Amino acid sequence: MLDLRVNIAFMRKNLPVIIIGAGISGLAAARCLVAANIPVLVLDKGRGVGGRMATRRSGDATFDHGAQFFSARTSDFQRVVEEAKYSGIVQPWWPKIPDNTHSRWIGTTGMNAVPKFLAESLTVLKEKRVTQIQAQSDEWHVITEELDVYQASAVLVTIPAPQALELLDKSAGHLPEFSHAPLHQIAYHPCFALLAILDRASNVPAPGGLALEHKNVTWIADNYQKGISKQPSVTVHASPIFSQLHLHTDPDLVEEKLLEAVVDYIEPAKVVQRQIHFWRYSLAYERYAEPFWQAKTELPLLFGGDGFGTGNVEGAFLSGLTMAEQLIEKLGR
Ligand SMILES: Cc1cc2nc3c(=O)[nH]c(=O)nc-3n(C[C@H](O)[C@H](O)[C@H](O)COP(=O)(O)OP(=O)(O)OC[C@H]3O[C@@H](n4cnc5c(N)ncnc54)[C@H](O)[C@@H]3O)c2cc1C
Repeated sequence: MLDLRVNIAFMRKNLPVIIIGAGISGLAAARCLVAANIPVLVLDKGRGVGGRMATRRSGDATFDHGAQFFSARTSDFQRVVEEAKYSGIVQPWWPKIPDNTHSRWIGTTGMNAVPKFLAESLTVLKEKRVTQIQAQSDEWHVITEELDVYQASAVLVTIPAPQALELLDKSAGHLPEFSHAPLHQIAYHPCFALLAILDRASNVPAPGGLALEHKNVTWIADNYQKGISKQPSVTVHASPIFSQLHLHTDPDLVEEKLLEAVVDYIEPAKVVQRQIHFWRYSLAYERYAEPFWQAKTELPLLFGGDGFGTGNVEGAFLSGLTMAEQLIEKLGR
């Protein structure tokens, strides 16, 4: 149990809550805390916000190379999706996937538009890789690679669980001892994403997104049909087995094998440029059942993200939101 008297004293010092990770989960938590007038600072190691809701540009071609679409089945997430729709940030989409009983959503200019929209009025410091968390007598110290030290009243960790475990390892000796068992339950598939620019339209059927039952690939999307790319371009996702098997294979060979698997969806178009991106953590296939986990520390230290609750974009959002709501309740706001 948290000692509420101590925590309320922290808030009087007006130290921010620090959120590690500006993916959808961290941003959802930040928005909720800011709405409750709690100061928040988000730190992310990336050059932009969004984490795995990633969009890459290359000349006139644009690729969604992480998450391809998302569901909005819960009212909490639907509210935000409606807000984003009203601002022209998202639109419904009906990709060809096994469970297509309800619409999915995409960013109108790419998936990264969604986290950018959520981050608009938040304080997010980019290119800040957190390497250590230290418990001081009445506050947290969050330390980055460049040895910047940020003081915090509470810390929310929203990075993939294996990375959170690395962070806890590096923080050993500066944290009280507590079990890390819930984080060990979470596991992610790796995923190679092949990004190919074409000289003309692909053969991917409308509306430009198709789940595949091939041993090497699970997905192909035509970013032009999706409406995000001026030039025809496809994103191909490798299967978990293929990605695991080829962790150390020459990237050129990986590209060849993936192109071979989707040739029918590409030819007669020709690939004019291609690149590969490797996601060490893509989809969480083993998750902690609850939407977040709170460590047994005197000062609030919570863990969330898509490894908790229902997973994927919507689950990560709900995880962040629930963590923030829990913290607000504990702080008596
Ligand atoms: C290839 C692929 C395909 C996918 N397809 C779909 C899909 O179609 N639909 C769907 O719903 N979901 C999909 N997903 C999953 C979805 O993208 C994630 O579930 C969701 O985006 C996770 O959000 P998050 O905030 O939990 O984590 P992340 O988005 O990973 O955010 C974590 C953030 O933490 C930052 N970070 C990490 N370590 C540190 C550190 N030490 N210090 C500071 N910052 C740090 C990272 O830079 C990142 O921005 C896919 C993912 C991938 C990779």
